Amino acid sequence: MYIPTIGLEIHIETKTKTKMFCSCANDPEETKPNINVCPVCLAHPGSLPVINKSAIQTIAKLGLALNGKIDDYSQFDRKSYFYPDLPKGYQISQYEHPIVKGGSLKGIRITRIHMEEDTGRLIHQIPTTYNLQPTTYSLVDFNRAGVPLIELVTEPDIENAEQAVAFAKELQLILRYLDISDADMEKGQMRVETNISLSDKKQETSDKKLGTKVEVKNLNSFKAVYGAIVYETKRQAEILDEGGKIIQETRGWNDKTGKTESQRLKESAHDYRYFPEPDLPPLNMSEFNLEELKAELSELPKTKRNRFKQEFKIPEEQIEILVSDKGKAEYFEESATELKSELPITNYQLLVNYFVSDLQGLMSERKTEIKNLKISPHEFAHFVFLIEKGTLSSRLAKDLLKKMFETGEDPETLMAKENISVIQDESALAQIVRKIIAENPQAVKDYQNSKATAVQFMIGKAMAVTGGKANPQILHKLFKEILDLSR
Ligand code: ZN
Ligand code: MN
Repeated sequence: MYIPTIGLEIHIETKTKTKMFCSCANDPEETKPNINVCPVCLAHPGSLPVINKSAIQTIAKLGLALNGKIDDYSQFDRKSYFYPDLPKGYQISQYEHPIVKGGSLKGIRITRIHMEEDTGRLIHQIPTTYNLQPTTYSLVDFNRAGVPLIELVTEPDIENAEQAVAFAKELQLILRYLDISDADMEKGQMRVETNISLSDKKQETSDKKLGTKVEVKNLNSFKAVYGAIVYETKRQAEILDEGGKIIQETRGWNDKTGKTESQRLKESAHDYRYFPEPDLPPLNMSEFNLEELKAELSELPKTKRNRFKQEFKIPEEQIEILVSDKGKAEYFEESATELKSELPITNYQLLVNYFVSDLQGLMSERKTEIKNLKISPHEFAHFVFLIEKGTLSSRLAKDLLKKMFETGEDPETLMAKENISVIQDESALAQIVRKIIAENPQAVKDYQNSKATAVQFMIGKAMAVTGGKANPQILHKLFKEILDLSR
């Protein structure tokens, strides 16, 4: 029996307007290579870096949101290594004095959060027009070189793949709530690496001797994070079972094979020859108004979940759908407030149902994001209000919502225009009800045998006769009254 000990290292590209140490644009959408470059991020001799203040505010915000500690003193260091996407031959990073120390998320302790710069991007191609040797050549694009990069390192508190994914997902959500990064993993805006080692259960009680650590890179999706941890745990256990030794190394995740593959032997910190960056002054974090930054933090997902639970009393799965997207949560909350002003309700179930199933269904079908939605929260609330009042039947509601989705028009205006109305006239509906009772003796018998579905069945028939235009509440009332009389 082995216990996995798992830690995460997560890199996050920030959404700042400019790069970390120069005024080049930080534009991940730029498609032309080597457009957003200058002598600083191309490492021309004699060029000097200047710290991007808003990047420092960004990382401080993240640190505060995760309950980390921000000391007054912080500094940048050089981390030396060679790679073709790193023009300086070193990365400006932080070693002994990261901006944020400690913190926690979902019960996992955070070791540190530091600021560094991103590298350029290599594009490996197979030559087509030129007969180049060797068979693959590489191009380098420095648009990304020097983009502010946050690195977050956790303590090895994680014990399984589910926990690791839950941590990464919550972090992604927080990054989006705080507008620090879009944290799109497929675009490389959030990159996860994991350290995994197995320790023997017997050793755990006496002295917790950790096994040899293996690092896995290239985790570009939550699925990859999950798969890599499951695979690596199994691989290491098999080696140990056979009496073998785990090699300390860096492995890469292969999405196609679903396996990790050895990449290189792991370097240790001293290989990087860290030393204080001589071209930058130390950071004095007391110059940043941390209290003010803290006050600027928007409501975090966890707080929002709790508040929604209290205020709206709707099921947790539905809360999760709302909270997992800040825009959706805000939209829902606005419509809830609107609805409450029209109708003093304490039940938001109908509103959330129409939001989660019908409106979201239309949004994904038509590939529309919440920010581009033509229906305003006010109109959406009005729409639900009409259903609640019985002015709109659930059958007509579906069609009306589609029309609102296309035009953005007010539901009542649309109902008048499209001649959509609900039959409220009790005597007209009673006639239909009597006719259906006469035509469906079996359903009447079922009703008398107290089958609840019988009434539903007959309401369905009445709806079909009226083209979905009857008021369902009135129908329900009439069926019960008339059936009970004829009992
Ligand atoms: Zn630049
Ligand atoms: Mn790093």
